[in-house]
Amino acid sequence: MYPRLVIDLNKLKSNLDEMAAITKRGNCSLMVVTKVLCADVEMAKMIAAHPDVKYVADSRVKNIAKYADIVRGAGKMTTLLRIPMHSEIEDVVKYVDLCFNSELSTIRLLNAEAKKQGKVQNILLMIDLGDLREGIFFKNEDLIYEAVEEILKMENICLYGIGVNLTCYGAIIPKNENLSILVEWAKKIEDKYDIKLQMVSGGNSSSVYLVDKGELPEGINNLRLGESFVLGNDTAYETKLPRTTDDTVILQAQIVELKEKPSLPIGEVGVDAFGQKPYYEDRGIIKRAIIAVGKQDTDLGSMTPVDEKIDILGGSSDHTILDVTKSDKNYQVGDVVEFKLGYGGVLKNATSEYVERVYIG
Ligand SMILES: *Cc1c(COP(=O)(O)O)cnc(C)c1O
Repeated sequence: MYPRLVIDLNKLKSNLDEMAAITKRGNCSLMVVTKVLCADVEMAKMIAAHPDVKYVADSRVKNIAKYADIVRGAGKMTTLLRIPMHSEIEDVVKYVDLCFNSELSTIRLLNAEAKKQGKVQNILLMIDLGDLREGIFFKNEDLIYEAVEEILKMENICLYGIGVNLTCYGAIIPKNENLSILVEWAKKIEDKYDIKLQMVSGGNSSSVYLVDKGELPEGINNLRLGESFVLGNDTAYETKLPRTTDDTVILQAQIVELKEKPSLPIGEVGVDAFGQKPYYEDRGIIKRAIIAVGKQDTDLGSMTPVDEKIDILGGSSDHTILDVTKSDKNYQVGDVVEFKLGYGGVLKNATSEYVERVYIG
């Protein structure tokens, strides 16, 4: 059935080997992030089996629940990246071995629930270094100490470490300078309370570039990698990481109509199905292929046809329209067209229940 994602587990494994090598060079443990593929279980099995992976992470508890047994069975830790909702505390304690936090009210609920379930819940306290998404703001010294002090008194919470997230909301790029502030905070907390933090987590795929420049501060001992693993992207400067591939996931969709028609619609132009005023280029009479996948399943701006002579003209909820005029292939109704996907494309397709999955490897 189409549309479908072809997920190449061999290529993903090869990218993962590369991420393992980079994190090793940076003296960091490797946390692999699965959210872009909605915690695909076949992928999770491959990740959990990798000897260099210590943590398997996702932003949603529902996703983690799908593979918690597999990850724990392999002796690795499940990790929840998004700050938990008060309404999901029970499941967090049940499925998550390490969760990221920034609110004392939530940590108190975790403590009570962990006691109920007879567990000690590991948490990572998030510090905001200026990207302005989650975390206690790094300049609010009193708030950080206050939080640490209360956490250390909780019987069923273990302060596993501290962490930062960058290049998400504020698009702030990780550097030696800002990440050094996190390392300083770790030292201040360790000295003041005479404890050892197991993890100082220095960010996501945008921090990878620092390793081979020798600029990742000593003391950062963990990186959390999603996009660099799945697509080989350094997301700080939008470069390709060496020895990685960006075609680990391919979208295949089937042609349901193929006709020669003008490229310019005829009549007064209003707005399209999504309320947008479209722009049309006059290409004369062209060979237009309609494929059965649309904005409900995919992100048109995040698709690149594998056949480079195809152009994506646009689409609506359930249809995407291609110009196949220049292609060397004589497409027919029923043929399958393939696309490489960017981050948004993989995410949207993996989320759609209308997109099937097949695996290589
Ligand atoms: C999504 C996410 C990551 C992984 O980000 P990538 O850019 O895909 O590597 C890491 N940490 C947190 C907190 C996240 O939400």
